[in-house]
Amino acid sequence: MTNKILIRSDNVFDGENFLGRREILVKDGKILEVGSGISCDNRIELGDEFVSPGFVDAHIHISGVKLSSIPESFFYETAPARMLSTIPILKKILFSGFTTVRECGDYHGVYLRDAVNAGYIEGPRIIAAGSPLTQTFGHGELSHVLPAETQSGLFGMVCDGVDDCIKASRTVLRQGSDFIKIFTTGGALSQSDSPYHEQFTLEEIRAIVKEAKKAGTYVAAHAEGDAGIRNAIEGGVSFIEHGFLANEETILLIAERNIPLTPTLSVLEQINELGEKGALPKPTLEKLQPLRQHARTVVPRAQKAGIKILAGTDLIGSTGLDIDYGNNWMEMVLLNKLGGLSELEALRAATGNCSVLGKKVGRLAPGYDADIISINGNPLEEIADASKVAMVMKGGSIVKK
Ligand SMILES: [Zn+2]
Repeated sequence: MTNKILIRSDNVFDGENFLGRREILVKDGKILEVGSGISCDNRIELGDEFVSPGFVDAHIHISGVKLSSIPESFFYETAPARMLSTIPILKKILFSGFTTVRECGDYHGVYLRDAVNAGYIEGPRIIAAGSPLTQTFGHGELSHVLPAETQSGLFGMVCDGVDDCIKASRTVLRQGSDFIKIFTTGGALSQSDSPYHEQFTLEEIRAIVKEAKKAGTYVAAHAEGDAGIRNAIEGGVSFIEHGFLANEETILLIAERNIPLTPTLSVLEQINELGEKGALPKPTLEKLQPLRQHARTVVPRAQKAGIKILAGTDLIGSTGLDIDYGNNWMEMVLLNKLGGLSELEALRAATGNCSVLGKKVGRLAPGYDADIISINGNPLEEIADASKVAMVMKGGSIVKK
């Protein structure tokens, strides 16, 4: 018996370009060859179904909270219950064609990653940050009223000063984090800070980046206001998350340093919709509006400057709205409809561009993980067709047909 599988389709997109009719040979969970006239007894004929690399959500939180009551979930539910509640969410994400997610901050992300890898639960590959690092009076605190020491480690790990930041970096790496996530500005959902506030000093950021590099990994920075984005870049971070308020000069600097940007348009629209239903505090919505306006102008300018744009939803908790777990494809739609990316560019943002995340994902090419999906539609013509996922293969095994 052979462990090789050949997939054939008339419409193959390899994560970079549309190739047309191709065959993809899979062996031992990896892609061996992409070409034509390949011989293999074990074949999957997909006809004119659109074939793509499995999608990647480059920024998500699998926290098991309700978006409208994040602090309550952390303070009043046990951490294991919260974590176990995410099991159906992970399956939903995988079945929607997202075979990899980058978990951008939650302590239990590393456990979920390990449980998926061990085959205990079904889900996408998880690249996990573990606890994100936050300063006191930072975006990663659950409350700016309750004592900081009562919440450190529940969501963000609180650290102040270079020595403390070094200790916190080593602690999250020791806990199994794949990379370090930090907050260099405030944000809309945190209680009393603002997206314009700079968080962490340049020295603190540099110290965290140094610790990450020593351990062979990188830092991704939540950075919304322009000054905090600048600090993150100067501090040596490898990824800018959000970047909503970047000015022209900063956009050019991001491009010059070859730093990928994950604009997370989904979370802005999701929070706005939830706010309109009266489910979020008024100050949150007031902080949100300039972010929504600026983000739409940053995406096309970033694209024009040559910045690699990654599709990340920044979903953090269930809402029951259209933008929710399992509809992660909405980010591609928003990048296209609000951010002005072409269908091809939006599709690349969730596939080929994500090969920079340090894993062999997002492309149909020899040596990459055999994460392959088929779609009943053509997202290069109508980006919302990315929702019509039929087959999902992860690591060479068909998990959904
Ligand atoms: Zn986030």
